[in-house]
Amino acid sequence: MAMIRTAAISEVLPSAQEMEHMHAVYREGGARHKMAPDIVYSEDSCPHSGCGFHLQAIDFRLESYGPAVHDPLVRSWWADVGFAGSCPKCDRWIHFTIREERALSPTEAGSFPNLPDDWHQKALIL
Ligand SMILES: [Zn+2]
Repeated sequence: MAMIRTAAISEVLPSAQEMEHMHAVYREGGARHKMAPDIVYSEDSCPHSGCGFHLQAIDFRLESYGPAVHDPLVRSWWADVGFAGSCPKCDRWIHFTIREERALSPTEAGSFPNLPDDWHQKALIL
């Protein structure tokens, strides 16, 4: 029976539903306080193959661009949409969200809010 199987798994790992709930709590708190996007990814480098640029912990420092740039990007970040920015090394597009960083095509990047071209000069990247 499905219910018994679900109970057994949840003793070992948080269920997908619990994970989703924790994610939602984190996101709502961040949005309410308009917290600066600051993230440590499980991936440690640029998601484009062959690049290898180290990109694991990022403090985007969007406040240095002023409210016209900062406000919509911060809203998008906490709305779980994230934003697109070009890799400082390979110049290809990356989608940054509170869940992951992933490779984007230029077309896909156009459907997300974009970071300023020089974002990596203002950001703190570790
Ligand atoms: Zn790259």
